[in-house]
Amino acid sequence: MLGLMQSQPLMISAVLKHAARHHGAAEIVSKNVEGDIDRYTWADAERRSRRLVRALQALGVEAGDRVGTLAMNGYRHLEIYYAAPGLGAICHTVNPRLHPDDIGYIVNHAGDKVLFAETSFNAVVTAIAPAIAGTVKTVVMMTSPALMPALDLPAGMRLVCYDDLIAGADEDYVWPEFDENTASALCYTSGTTGRPKGVLYSHRSTILHAYGVSVADALALRAVDRVLPVVPMFHVNAWGIPYAAAMTGTSLIMPGRHLDGPSMHKLLNDERVTMTAGVPTVWMGLLQHLRATPGAKLDTVQRIMTGGSACPPLLIEAFGREYGVRMEHGWGMTEISPVGTYNRPKPAHAGLDEAGLEHLTLKQGRVLPGIDMKIVNDAGEELPWDGVAFGDLKVRGSWVASAYYGDAPGSALDADGWFATGDVATIDPNGMMEITDRSKDVIKSGGEWISSITLENIAVSHPDIAEAAVIAARHAKWDERPLLIVVPVKGAMVTPESVLAIYEGKIAKWWLPDRVLVVDELPHTATGKLQKNTLRARYQNLLLEQPS
Ligand code: ADP
Repeated sequence: MLGLMQSQPLMISAVLKHAARHHGAAEIVSKNVEGDIDRYTWADAERRSRRLVRALQALGVEAGDRVGTLAMNGYRHLEIYYAAPGLGAICHTVNPRLHPDDIGYIVNHAGDKVLFAETSFNAVVTAIAPAIAGTVKTVVMMTSPALMPALDLPAGMRLVCYDDLIAGADEDYVWPEFDENTASALCYTSGTTGRPKGVLYSHRSTILHAYGVSVADALALRAVDRVLPVVPMFHVNAWGIPYAAAMTGTSLIMPGRHLDGPSMHKLLNDERVTMTAGVPTVWMGLLQHLRATPGAKLDTVQRIMTGGSACPPLLIEAFGREYGVRMEHGWGMTEISPVGTYNRPKPAHAGLDEAGLEHLTLKQGRVLPGIDMKIVNDAGEELPWDGVAFGDLKVRGSWVASAYYGDAPGSALDADGWFATGDVATIDPNGMMEITDRSKDVIKSGGEWISSITLENIAVSHPDIAEAAVIAARHAKWDERPLLIVVPVKGAMVTPESVLAIYEGKIAKWWLPDRVLVVDELPHTATGKLQKNTLRARYQNLLLEQPS
């Protein structure tokens, strides 16, 4: 027997309509390319998104077409987030920090019909234009007529101004309802291994994810909150915040390209931000600025969500103790929309002492309702949740990808329907997951696994070390051994001996890195993660070539 409840397809436009109708006055504040502030409301965003639908239709965009974006976080990008799926098309966010060859590949692979770009990416647009001329017929610069650049584009590719488009469009669009499984957005993984692959979200997966991240033990956004997503809208949907904020009526503060410590500090305080979210590198920059500025405080920020890579313990401790801000750890990936787990305590954690609490906050957290996870060994057998055994982390759920763009449905899953994350993790008896590595980064020493992240976290607790990377170096006897590469804090001198001393009593003896290299800087990917494949290419034979 079927239930007798109303059935409404889960539509992305529905959360925008909700925000406009019930939280119409909530603000959307954007810092623009010139550094000025643009300010409007969710009601304005909904109205302008309707105009943008009409403008897209006038450009020939139809249901199923891909609409590319090269943009940071701002209100025009938000309008594309809603207008493209609102007409059944797909908002394809492209990471502008990738190499132009990769951007060209991604735009062609997706077959984008229109490309929206901010003026800070003029050079990228010009560089890729000849390569994408076969698919992109219109480039829309996300700016006002006064700031329109004159770009040299191939014949047949139109250059249009965003604000002109909106100004000339009708407001009469009525958001339609259609199959909730219709594709809504497309995002390519960074391609740290091989060519980037596209993850194709649906209206249904996006809305369920937005509900999932909104629960009180996750992002917990409220109508009285003012949230600043530092995490970019061009990658992993800004962790779902553009949708969850509309659903909860939260005000959105968009930082544009101004992510350095001083700019962040000013925007957080000026705009009375209560919650913010981003990768640890950004928080490190903010912390350094705060510490270097006598009397600096965060006036209104209560919580910082950190994710994307492991959060150094120092950050959680420093923000908590020195600035009274709670750092919360989340984990996810492009293929999981992206949030899979969030770290908030359970009743079992009530009696933890300070050391126990500290260790707890470093974990990546427990699953959001809607996601399940397990860890398995090389034979695919499930491992115990004892917080010690570590194995390959697999997930499944309504907002987990089943295949990459262009591939057959289900082709990214194992026979039982689980998705292998490529991460290695432990899960403790309370269901708290802790990433110990990416599977390709784990160090396999004499058949036993050593966690590179654990070793890196300890290294950066050294007062003179700014950043650390541990990679597997080939070893004649043990196959692989840990090699530690560190960047000292500006002006500090470190010796390998002083670095190794910090591991005393913290790890099993056989985990101790075999060698310490001190370098000026480490390579990073376009999303700010350590580029370990570059380090491996450079150093993986070091212990064979120079055994002592
Ligand atoms: P890519 O860098 O391949 O585009 P994503 O940006 O989707 O991938 O990043 C996903 C990966 O980032 C995860 O598989 C995991 O390795 C890492 N990651 C994400 N959040 C965390 C976290 N809180 N702690 C440690 N690693 C994390």
